[in-house]
Amino acid sequence: MTQEIGGFAALNLNPNVLAAVIATGYEEPSAIQVQAIPVILAGHDMIGQAQTGTGKTAAFALPILSRIDPAKRQPQALILAPTRELALQVATAFETYAKQMPGVNVIAVYGGAPMGPQLKAIRNGAQIVVATPGRLVDHLRRDEKVLSTIQHLVLDEADEMLKLGFMDDLEVIFKAMPESRQTVLFSATLPHSIRAIAEKHLRDPKHVKIETKTQTVTAIEQAHLMVHADQKHAAVLRLLEVEEFDALIGFVRTKQATLDLAAALEAKGYKAAALNGDIAQNQRERVIESLKDGRLDIVIATDVAARGLDVPRITHVMNVDMPYDPESYVHRIGRTGRAGRTGRALLLVTPRERRMLQVIERVTGQKVGEVKLPNAQQVLDARIKKLTNSLAPLVADAEASHGELLDRLTADIGCSPRALAAALLRKATNGQALTLADVERDQPLVPSSTGTRERSERSDRGERPERDGSRERRAPVPLAEGRARCRTALGARDGIAAKNLLGAILNEGGLVREAIGRIQVRESFSLVELPEEGLERLLTKLKDTRVGGKPLKLRRYRED
Ligand code: AMP
Repeated sequence: MTQEIGGFAALNLNPNVLAAVIATGYEEPSAIQVQAIPVILAGHDMIGQAQTGTGKTAAFALPILSRIDPAKRQPQALILAPTRELALQVATAFETYAKQMPGVNVIAVYGGAPMGPQLKAIRNGAQIVVATPGRLVDHLRRDEKVLSTIQHLVLDEADEMLKLGFMDDLEVIFKAMPESRQTVLFSATLPHSIRAIAEKHLRDPKHVKIETKTQTVTAIEQAHLMVHADQKHAAVLRLLEVEEFDALIGFVRTKQATLDLAAALEAKGYKAAALNGDIAQNQRERVIESLKDGRLDIVIATDVAARGLDVPRITHVMNVDMPYDPESYVHRIGRTGRAGRTGRALLLVTPRERRMLQVIERVTGQKVGEVKLPNAQQVLDARIKKLTNSLAPLVADAEASHGELLDRLTADIGCSPRALAAALLRKATNGQALTLADVERDQPLVPSSTGTRERSERSDRGERPERDGSRERRAPVPLAEGRARCRTALGARDGIAAKNLLGAILNEGGLVREAIGRIQVRESFSLVELPEEGLERLLTKLKDTRVGGKPLKLRRYRED
């Protein structure tokens, strides 16, 4: 739909930046982008009040990329982020949006990696430097001129940086940059300390904030599920097993995500389709008609594509990706609960998006309660209930119509009616897992919350570590599919308990509790079960994590 691309096109971004945005599959700018991009492009200093999930990274990355000069091979923009994880995310975002700008280089500068290559990359002309304050100050000590060419400074998650004690480092960094630079500050909250920084270091800043007027949502039951981004598809599939929906609309952020999720659902036998801005108008109408008349039960859409969609059959809205602002949340969930019916709205929240959840709760004035991922037993119960519901109405007159046939078949085959009924069930359920063991085997990636919880609570309670050396070599229990076992040299003798390991991995790894399996603390080492998917990335994230003051140094453990 060209008018949506027009949304970004109207913002006067550099054409190469615009091309990259369109290639990324964004259909329209988010609220914070609409407001912040023109301000930053015009060269103003700015204070943006926005949290993760609003699209704030692109809100500064797109105009800054549009303003730098790729021909100049020197640092021109500095983005400061509180953590290495965020610095890496921001650097990746810049790389994505700079894909069609030859000659633009981005360097992420953070602690825990060697300093030499970082400094070399900066000196070699990376135009965009994304850094954590502590490490950047280390660089300044080696080379005080390293920031002398910076024209644009962004403080991302400024409140978090202050909470982490970076105030003094920030002062050192401010001093090392030209005063003529543009300064943009993003912060979820604006406590006094942030205002003080703004007053001292920003010139006549413009304020940008997403309006959050209270919105009422009635007749819609809301719930959220905490999930790691990598596990969203698996979580959606699992939720759909137990949610009793008639029709459902799922919201994601990009065109590609509509296609990917709709395909995953179709592969599982759902009548699902994608709806995005690339889909021609007549096809779009066909999809909506199909959803209305039941040829489709699920539509996965972007906000743009779902505009004006009004299908009374929709009982569920699933926010697979977080909306950019509370207003779009309210719009999205308003797709259900139409015509006086009640509806249900589910929201998937990744650990970093917790804050956004709080904003939504504040704006809607309602608590969005938490649901846990259904465990295998609940999935099985739901499947059996569906089967019961589908067969029950047939029982009443089936004997009259097919009773004689049954007698003849049992006689011909020479089997009991029970055996024949079982065979028919097997045929009718078409290979679907209908025993607990089969359901568990089918869904290894997002392990059942109850199961994991029981195990980790047991270890939390301080399951006694085995101190006897010979037992330390005992063969570990078999691993569930989709899991990898990792080892750390920290053990009971270091004063480590399972809950310390769990806490560190949850916090620093950004995982949900369900993603972590068994934790075994032994005298001189510990073993932790983690999801195989994304393991290398997770281990990199945890590279510098310390537990009880000692380096965790988690490594994949091979039992041979
Ligand atoms: P942020 O709030 O910057 O952490 O962004 C959250 C997510 O939204 C990131 O995964 C971005 O890729 C995505 N995003 C940002 N802007 C848009 C947009 N206009 N359309 C679709 N996705 C976006």
